[in-house]
Amino acid sequence: MSFYLLDHPPASPQFYPSRANTPTWAVSVHTSEGATGPGTALGLAQFIARRSDPGSYAAIVDSETTIDMVPPLYTTYSVAAAGYNSRTWSICLTGRSRDLSPNDPNTLAMIGRAGRAIFELWTLVGVNIPDALAWIGTDALKRPGLFCHGDVQPWDRTDAWSIHPERPDLDLLLVKAIAANIPQPLPTLEDEMNRYLIRGNKAGEVYLADAGLGWKWHVPAGQLPNVAYAVAVGGGHIITPPGAQTIIVEGLNVWVADQAFVDAIPRTK
Ligand SMILES: [Zn+2]
Repeated sequence: MSFYLLDHPPASPQFYPSRANTPTWAVSVHTSEGATGPGTALGLAQFIARRSDPGSYAAIVDSETTIDMVPPLYTTYSVAAAGYNSRTWSICLTGRSRDLSPNDPNTLAMIGRAGRAIFELWTLVGVNIPDALAWIGTDALKRPGLFCHGDVQPWDRTDAWSIHPERPDLDLLLVKAIAANIPQPLPTLEDEMNRYLIRGNKAGEVYLADAGLGWKWHVPAGQLPNVAYAVAVGGGHIITPPGAQTIIVEGLNVWVADQAFVDAIPRTK
């Protein structure tokens, strides 16, 4: 893998080759507020290598190209709000925020490339991707997830789409673009044996639930690993719904769902 700013040393400092703090691996999403379309990612990379003031990203995408600028453990000058550059990772879509649209092929192509790049980063550094996808906002100094530059630096930034009128759609498109890279096992007869570990967001009890959610069975404390083992021996798997918020209980991913949803699943025992 090559990195643009290592192959093209910048005219002024645009990174540190380390991190001053332990990264949360939250990802800041930016727009360049300049030209968009094929060739503009390379143009932006060249601009960053030439510029005389600090301003850089870990990755840049246009509709046809993804450019990795520096390795993940390098610090870039991406966010002026305190503490973010050393703890988070940044990606820039070329173009202007106001020209982004959920119906625009150029926007969709860039979001698709950003999704792939974020998936690869999170896989490399071991982030729980479904968990990280459940959160977008301003808590990036504490946990992985996604945020717009404008979310944490609202006094002078609105990129990538922090105040865009179609923000919910753009957020969802990026979440789906990342999740689309999560390997999904092909459906087989074994799906009959696949099970969810699930918990309501109001109560602390964990249930084993049918993948079709036709039933749930209460798992006593201390028995989760044994239950997971028994499911595996039976030819099944403990699975997590794509995009589900999960927590770790007794070393296993437990899907946390709305309490009413969990209560509505028929209880068998
Ligand atoms: Zn920005």
